[in-house]
This record gives sequence, C-alpha cells and structure tokens, in this order.
Amino acid sequence: MDILVIGAGVGGLAVARTLLAAGHRVRVYEQAPARRTGGKALLVWCNGNAILSDLGVSLDGVGARIDRIDGLTPDGRSRGSMNIAHAADRFGFPTKAILRRHLLERLAGGLPDDLIRYGMTCRSVSQDDGQVTVTFGDGSTVTGDLLVGADGHHSVVRRHLWGEGTVQPATFGTWQGLSPIDIEITDTTRHLMITGREGACGLMPAGDGLLQWWFDVRWSPADPRPASPLAELRRRFGRWASPVSEVLAAASEDNLEFFGHHWNRVRPVWGEGRITLVGDAAHTMPPTLGQGANQTLEDAWVLGRELAKDGDDLAVRLRAYEKARYPHISLVSRLAKRNPANWRIPPLLGRLVPETSQTHMLARFSNRLSAPQTA
Ligand SMILES: Cc1cc2nc3c(=O)[nH]c(=O)nc-3n(C[C@H](O)[C@H](O)[C@H](O)COP(=O)(O)OP(=O)(O)OC[C@H]3O[C@@H](n4cnc5c(N)ncnc54)[C@H](O)[C@@H]3O)c2cc1C
Repeated sequence: MDILVIGAGVGGLAVARTLLAAGHRVRVYEQAPARRTGGKALLVWCNGNAILSDLGVSLDGVGARIDRIDGLTPDGRSRGSMNIAHAADRFGFPTKAILRRHLLERLAGGLPDDLIRYGMTCRSVSQDDGQVTVTFGDGSTVTGDLLVGADGHHSVVRRHLWGEGTVQPATFGTWQGLSPIDIEITDTTRHLMITGREGACGLMPAGDGLLQWWFDVRWSPADPRPASPLAELRRRFGRWASPVSEVLAAASEDNLEFFGHHWNRVRPVWGEGRITLVGDAAHTMPPTLGQGANQTLEDAWVLGRELAKDGDDLAVRLRAYEKARYPHISLVSRLAKRNPANWRIPPLLGRLVPETSQTHMLARFSNRLSAPQTA
C-alpha cells in the first residue's frame, strides 16, 4: 500500500517505522524545514519504551532512568511514593526521561533518506473511493491509498474530519525549563511531584547533569503573559520547601517556555474512509500524566498491527485500529484532564498506604494503558 503521513513528530516517525516494517510504501510530509532539535525532556514510561524497542529503537546511552516518583506537600511532607522500577520490571523496560530531540533522532535513525520531505505544509486533504489527495502550501499535491494525520495539536487533518473548535483550552498551563541545576535530585533516579494550593511543581533528572523543572499554574488563554514569568513563579512558589526554592533561585528566564494545556474529548471513531489520525491530532491532552507521546507510540504500534493484516477492506481496518485504541486513550485523556494541583492527596494517605500498594496500583494502571500488555 502507498501510505501518506502528515507530520514527522513522535507519531509520524513511529508510524513510518511500523508501516515500513509491514512492507508498505511510506512518504512523510513535515512542515518544518528540518528535524526538530529543540524541546525539553519527555518521560518515556515503560509502556512507551517497550513499544520503541519493538520498533527497533533503543534509548540506551541517552536520558536518565527514573525509578521512583515521590509526591510531596509544599512543606516537604510525603503524599506517597511509587517504585517505578518495580512496574518497569513487569514490562521489561525502564522508564526514562529523555530529550525530545534525542527521541526524534532515534525514531528517525535508519529510515531511508528520502522518506521525510521537510518544508511541506499540508493545507487540505480530500478522498474518493480509490485514493486520498493532499494539497500543500505551495499548491503541489500527492496521492496515495491511505492518509495518516500525525500533525499534532493543531492538526489540519483533524479539522478536515471533525471541523473547527474540537480542541479546547484546559484550566492549567505549564512553565517549563531544562537546565544544569546542581542539586541532589539532578543526579538521582527520582522524579518529584510537589502539589499545593498555588499549583504544582515537577522535578525530573534528564541526564548529562540536566534537570527538567516545571510549574503548573491556573491559566486561561485570555491571561496576559507576566512581564517577568520567573519573578511571578518566585512570588508564587518561593516559600515552598527545598528543593523548590533552590530550583527557583538557580533558574533562568532564557530557558523558560510556556505551554497552555488543551484537551479534546476522545471520539470512538477518529477517521473516515481512507483517513485516520494518530497522536495529539486525535487526543490532545494536558501533560499531567506524561503519557501523550507514550500513547502516540501505542497508536503507531496498533495501527501497524492492523495494517499488517490481510483481508478486510482498508476503511474497516482503520476503524478497527481506532476502536482498539479508544478504551485506553479515553481513560488516559480523562485522567490527564485533572491537574495534580487538584488531586488533593492528603499527606496521611502517603503514610497509611504502603509504597508497595501504591506501586502495585501503578503497575495495574500501566497495564491498562498499554496495547501490547492487553493484546
Ligand atoms: C509541556 C509538555 C510536556 C510534555 N511532557 C510529556 C511527557 O513527559 N511524556 C509524554 O509522553 N508526553 C509529553 N507531552 C506530550 C507530547 O509532547 C505529545 O503527546 C507528543 O509530542 C505527540 O506527538 P505527535 O506526533 O502527535 O505530535 P507532535 O509531536 O506535535 O508532532 C506533530 C508534527 O506535525 C507537524 N505538522 C503540524 N502541522 C502540519 C502540517 N499542516 N503539515 C505538515 N506537518 C505538520 C509538526 O511540525 C510536528 O513536527 C508533553 C507535552 C507538553 C506540552
């Protein structure tokens, strides 16, 4: 089959790998002039890492292993701990924090040189009984048997299928930085999540002496950008206990990026005819659970398995893929909509529920999120 993919992010590259392996001809069109080299770190959970391995992608030698998550109150009391290394053992792959550019580099590694065409912005798509057609910004067109929209949060392909206005702002936004902050956690395998009335703060080692740090605050698109975002974060979170105060003291404004959270209700059917979606195009969600890219990899894996099957008509196989993904992704998406600052887990729970039980709950939850585990 001749397959067109729009977008060369996590989803587009993963789809290209899985469909090439199934013997299809694949062409990927990306609006950016070259592979993205910016971006901060992503948490690749054991489910995402297992899928990467199945796609022939190794994360060896990049990023930092994350073995536990500790929840804290602003004054440093425990809200609970989870031993992720234990959950990872059940999958056979560790959870890692890895720079986005490293993930894209590894996903693109080994793909044929002419597979990705950069500087090609998809403007519109159409289809008839026999083929799909993509029209680009420069007026050129391509046709194929099938189209995968992997064009992210602002997807043109989704707008063609669903119309405008289906992705809505959520109620929080993230100020995020990645820098070589020399505090104890930077050299550990611990991820800290500190939550309070002012918002949430996450700290995660990302390898090579880098710390990924972020602050989630209430947000609406109408809010003006603060004149000095770092001063605003220091005002809001400056009284939180160590290590938040050290991070705020060492942070620099040049390194700070803002992402307003967005969300769409996941639909049981994403595509139509010969067109389907993967990743944020189908399920934009706040980064609360760190599962967006992981679930995008799950999409690619399931789509690859469906399109490797013989038999049914193409549209039937695409709808089977969407149907298989729906229960997992709608669960993750609904949970991700609730910001950790609203979880209100009492510190007492952290003391009453033993770490082993919390870890067990995480492992069961991870199983429910993962297609290979439930296949
Ligand atoms: C602050 C923040 C932190 C996050 N942290 C995590 C985390 O720790 N773990 C995790 O799993 N997820 C995380 N995510 C979510 C994750 O980034 C996304 O879920 C993931 O990138 C989705 O991949 P994608 O391929 O669908 O979209 P993208 O990565 O957005 O890729 C889409 C690609 O399509 C291209 N494109 C767009 N429009 C067009 C067009 N018209 N024509 C051609 N090309 C086009 C874009 O240039 C881009 O290259 C986070 C997100 C945010 C905002």
